[in-house]
Amino acid sequence: MDAGFYGNGVKKTRLTERISNAMQAAEAEDAKTKRGRSRLCNPFMSSLLGPAIIWKYFPKQSEALEYCRSIADVHIFAFECADLPAGARRFLVTSYEHFWHDYMLMDDDQRALYEVIPEETPVKLYFDVEFVKDTNPQANAEEIIVLFLSLLSQTFTEVFSVPLPLENLVQLDSSTLSKFSQHFIFPKAVFRDFRHAGLFVTHFCRNLQDSTSDDVKKLFLHSKDLSSPTVLFIDQGVYTKNRNFRVYLSSKLGKKNPFVLYHDSPLQDLTQKEIFFLSLICNTQSCKSEDLLHFDTEKFPVGKLSQNTSESVSRRFRSDGDRPSLTSSNLPSPFPEVDKFFESVITADGLMGRIRMWQYFAESQTVLYSIGGDYRFCGHIGRHHRSNNINFVACLKSGTYHQKCLDVECKNYRSQNYKLPLVLVNEPASNESAVPGDRDESVPDDSMNEEDGETFDAQGDKLLADMSSPDDY
Ligand SMILES: [Zn+2]
Repeated sequence: MDAGFYGNGVKKTRLTERISNAMQAAEAEDAKTKRGRSRLCNPFMSSLLGPAIIWKYFPKQSEALEYCRSIADVHIFAFECADLPAGARRFLVTSYEHFWHDYMLMDDDQRALYEVIPEETPVKLYFDVEFVKDTNPQANAEEIIVLFLSLLSQTFTEVFSVPLPLENLVQLDSSTLSKFSQHFIFPKAVFRDFRHAGLFVTHFCRNLQDSTSDDVKKLFLHSKDLSSPTVLFIDQGVYTKNRNFRVYLSSKLGKKNPFVLYHDSPLQDLTQKEIFFLSLICNTQSCKSEDLLHFDTEKFPVGKLSQNTSESVSRRFRSDGDRPSLTSSNLPSPFPEVDKFFESVITADGLMGRIRMWQYFAESQTVLYSIGGDYRFCGHIGRHHRSNNINFVACLKSGTYHQKCLDVECKNYRSQNYKLPLVLVNEPASNESAVPGDRDESVPDDSMNEEDGETFDAQGDKLLADMSSPDDY
């Protein structure tokens, strides 16, 4: 793309400078929005010589998503930069072409950008895999990758009755001396959305978990030290709503570990731009809607995972900078000990309660449990409901929980706070997850006072009601 594409009247400043200038503008505009003024203006719109250019910053992800809904062919990128508080991200909406153009003008060490994967958007099959090198001296990365791809191909064929398309497979490497870290992106395996991709990966990981093969065990590696339990090297925490996925040639801010094409990749002859376009998870325009992959949970029920996998999920949730803002699942939550506690409550006295679903709110360190089965005890009526279900809300920060109820009569009921057993209370997510500006609208503020609790509960109930489709995991 030549510079003329931008047309006259567009300043070709570098992305970093633009970011710094535009951030202030975006924040000022955000303040204006709050006063009821129009927020959607396009600073780089309309050139007489070329197509309209959209290049717009948002302090909040939710606003960027909202803006994108009304415009075709634009996408959201999250970025970190030195001018922002540590861990904070801002959001840029533009086309892939424009993004690439300005991305290339940045200094190598300033690229700390992430593709935002909106829900309801088709996605290429993607994987984030990693392990610590020191604690796994026996691990042979080459061997593990070959094994991973071969097992993945098998499962893919079993599920979709077609071979896993390996054409243009993008294998990016961001490994350091101490850590092996790669992304795999399959441009020809496109799922309806992240949920379907996530369900397939969950199914695949469960197969691995259940396998007794010695080969498969090579994919399970020690996380801390040699005596720590082994965990699967596949990060299952990256299939969440509005996930930020680090892009080709970007490092985490301040680190010098950009994702580059793996030396062994057959794509060496492609240009950087071609690799970039292939590596974008949501760049799926060429895939026809009838070719989108659906994961059939009726045919392949995704049930309980074993302890190892849930530990893997737990570990990722606590340590991964590419954090989710919200997750929901009928799999074990990232806090298996908390799950266990509520399981003991709802199965006491011979009752057959079960955790139907959970949601984790990183900002408030709260887990919302929707209870199914025959445990329906509600403090409001002092007995079990006949048919309506109840929820538990566990606040990990304060170490307390309370009960809510889905019965219309109990709509505004919130039980008193009860204490969670002490051992559970040291589990909250790391500070890394506190990302101002990267906050889902449904996620409450950090402080969990009585009033926030109410707001949270109302939103949580609604979310759970919305979650009842079998597509959710
Ligand atoms: Zn009730």
